Amino acid sequence: MAEKIIMMTAQRGDTPVVPSILETPTGLLSDRLARPLHDLRISVTDRCNFRCVYCMPKAVFNNEYQYLPHTSLLSFEEITRIAKLFIAHGVEKIRLTGGEPLLRKNIEKLIGMLAELKTVSGKPLDLTLTTNASLLARKAQSLKDAGLQRVTVSLDALDNATFQRMNDVDFAVEDVLKGIDVAHQVGLGPIKVNMVVKGGMNDHEIVPMARYFRGTPYILRFIEYMDVGASNGWKMDEVIPSAEVARRISAEMPLEPVAANYTGETASRWRYVDGSGEIGLISSVSQAFCSDCTRARLSTEGKLYTCLFATSGHDLRALLREGRDDAEISTALAHLWRQREDRYSELRTSQTAELRRSANKVEMSYIGG
Ligand code: SAM
Ligand code: SF4
Ligand code: SF4
Repeated sequence: MAEKIIMMTAQRGDTPVVPSILETPTGLLSDRLARPLHDLRISVTDRCNFRCVYCMPKAVFNNEYQYLPHTSLLSFEEITRIAKLFIAHGVEKIRLTGGEPLLRKNIEKLIGMLAELKTVSGKPLDLTLTTNASLLARKAQSLKDAGLQRVTVSLDALDNATFQRMNDVDFAVEDVLKGIDVAHQVGLGPIKVNMVVKGGMNDHEIVPMARYFRGTPYILRFIEYMDVGASNGWKMDEVIPSAEVARRISAEMPLEPVAANYTGETASRWRYVDGSGEIGLISSVSQAFCSDCTRARLSTEGKLYTCLFATSGHDLRALLREGRDDAEISTALAHLWRQREDRYSELRTSQTAELRRSANKVEMSYIGG
């Protein structure tokens, strides 16, 4: 009988070196490709109540899948301590993600703790969260009260049958739309809506989604289907390039480009020529933006990933739990970022995607999107 392989979330990682000469953070770190450290994405849970086919396919994330035990998760105190050290190195924006971040118990408490932190220049942190919106209508007010500024909501189709094929748990479009509206009403805006486009599955929904969100306060962003993780069976020919998305929308509702808000913005911005709003195109596959990538990612169990496509992380939890002080962990962080030279998407081809899959790339639900 074939041996049964039980997949689990825990991933490889090294314990970072703590240099013997400690340094004081200046807020001006930069990596080998001269990229500063500006954004931190924190995954607060590896669990999710959806089984999106491109992220947590049921065949892998089934009853036998072993999620992290609670003791492996960073506590809110540990997350906040690490966040402070990152902020001292220049981070100005923190995004909570997962898995589904609203499934983490008492997430409002963590938000309250992070909302008190200030950037190096003394400004409030840009504090946001990405969610599938299943719990958003219920939680929007308490998230806002805790100090969350904005949310990004994922929605892959307007047509219910298509959306349910994508989330694979029969969750209804109507409930996501309700979540978006409630979040808007309580002031968690401007709200961005992310649609991952998977060729042959939901690409017929590109134009209906554009039509629906045009003229609303919400900014719709189309994301190219990426080869994250090792379980979604990604194929290059299922990627619909952003240029094709723009072409299909423009044919009915003409678009023109808009200048970026800031260097390192992931989405290229386009507006409707008639002034009825804008959309974003996230071309992670067809037009890599590694040269501007200022993002670090902290996994649910406290591993630092300097790229979404990394195959191993740096175990910051080990440093915390072996009693290292702030100066030691901060110096180790500086050391790691200075060594960073990741630019996976710029180097991606079908062959590298296949090689990485066999090297066990980290899953999106563990590292956060
Ligand atoms: N559960 C939350 C959600 O879905 O919004 C937050 C975590 S999810 C991993 C974050 C984002 O990653 C979502 O917008 C999701 O659509 C996107 N994502 C997941 N897998 C992806 C893939 N293979 N390619 C492109 N985007 C992906
Ligand atoms: Fe869950 Fe988000 Fe992944 Fe979908 S994309 S399975 S909602 S973590
Ligand atoms: Fe950043 Fe890695 Fe994505 Fe390039 S491939 S944009 S370095 S996360």
